[in-house]
Formats: sequence, C-alpha cells, structure tokens
Amino acid sequence: CGIVGYLGPRPAVPILVQGLERLEYRGYDSAGIAVLNGGGLVVEKSAGKLHVLKSRLNGNLNGARVGIGHTRWATHGRPSDVNAHPHLDCTGKFAVVHNGIIENYQELREQLVAAGHRFISETDTEVLAHLVEQFYEGDLLQAVLKMLPNLRGSYALAVASAYHPQELVGVRQDSPLIIGLSNGETYLASDIPALLPYTRDTYILENGEVAWIRPEGVNVYDAQGTKRAKEVFHVAWDL
Ligand code: GLU
Repeated sequence: CGIVGYLGPRPAVPILVQGLERLEYRGYDSAGIAVLNGGGLVVEKSAGKLHVLKSRLNGNLNGARVGIGHTRWATHGRPSDVNAHPHLDCTGKFAVVHNGIIENYQELREQLVAAGHRFISETDTEVLAHLVEQFYEGDLLQAVLKMLPNLRGSYALAVASAYHPQELVGVRQDSPLIIGLSNGETYLASDIPALLPYTRDTYILENGEVAWIRPEGVNVYDAQGTKRAKEVFHVAWDL
C-alpha cells in the first residue's frame, strides 16, 4: 500500500518512519522496514499500526543510512507479522517491499520451491525476494531487470541488498513510484506526500521504468535495461 526508501548521509530509520506516517491516510494493516546496518540487512515489521513498529524499533538501528519501508494492505495472506513487508530471500541478503499484486505468484512459487527455496509467508510478494536472489550474479540492477519479464500483475517495488549497501532499486508497473532528489540524498515513495518534508524535485516513474539509486545519483532505465533521459518534475503545490 505505501512504499518509502532512503539513501543518504542521515539516519534512515526516522526518515522511513516519518514517510510511512505521511502515507497512513491510505490505510494499512501492517508496517515494516529493512535497513542496511553493520554490513547486513535488518528487518523490523509487525501487524498493526505504526506505533507498534516504532515501539519495536525503540530508537535502535540509528547507524543505518540506507533502507526501505512499507505499510501493507493485505491482498494475499492475512495481516500478520510474517506476512508484513519487507520480505527476505532464504539467504537474508535481499529485501523487497511491494505494492500491488503478482498474479502468477503461485506458479513462480512452485518453481522456486522445486529449485530449493523455502517460503515462510503466505504473500504473493515473497516470490520477488527469492527471484532477485535466483537471478543475482553480482549486479543488483541486472538481477531485478532479469526478474521483470517473469512477472504478471501490478507492482511498485523497492529492493535492497546486503551485497550492495549503497544501492537501492525501484520499479514501477501499474502502481505508482516516485523518486525524490535532494543534495546527496535520494528518497523513494509511492506517493508525493511522503517526500514533501524533504524535497520537491522528483522523477515520476512511468510504467516499466526501473530506478537505480546510488550515492552518485539516480539512473532510470526501461524494463529492457536501456537508459532513459528523465526530466525532474518539481512539485509546486502544497497539501
Ligand atoms: N499483495 C501484497 C500483499 O498482500 C501487497 C499488498 C499492498 O499493496 O500493500 O502482501
């Protein structure tokens, strides 16, 4: 339902939580974040409102400078801690948050289980974390690009990896995703209100577009991996 992401020099957790708070108006049943902390991915997530997540975080993980967050409106699998996003692959090296529905998730899940992957949630989303891991050969952007032709449905995604603590990848397909650009900081959000405390300069992703976010900047590609020239959209209005 709601997606946020941050990559920059400041503590990521308060920024992710504030972004999720600014998306609360859309409604949700669970919330979670994944941050790069001390060389690994750390996930905190729970069913219920954001105050439950906040009390679990309890001011911890403040060394993290990169992360993704999600508020979930369950479509596949009941609201529960395990079904809350982010979802990890078996190795714990890849984390994914997702808005929308992966229509062919059952078929993908069967193929992944046959290939040895073990699933712990009831969501359609979990296949995405396992697929990124399956396609990963050292390059996070390429792994996501290789996954996309296998997916049917609507999705906005944010992907983080312990192998690439200074990168995030975002994808938009029939579910909105926006990049917020600021000096040396990049934000991801499913809706503009989450970005407004931080920046008004954005890339509004179009269907099929993939954003590769690094400290050096943001590159946008089409689903085939061809780089797109992207114009900055300045948000002039107030909420
Ligand atoms: N289909 C996913 C799930 O049920 C994502 C739902 C959403 O958009 O929040 O977990």
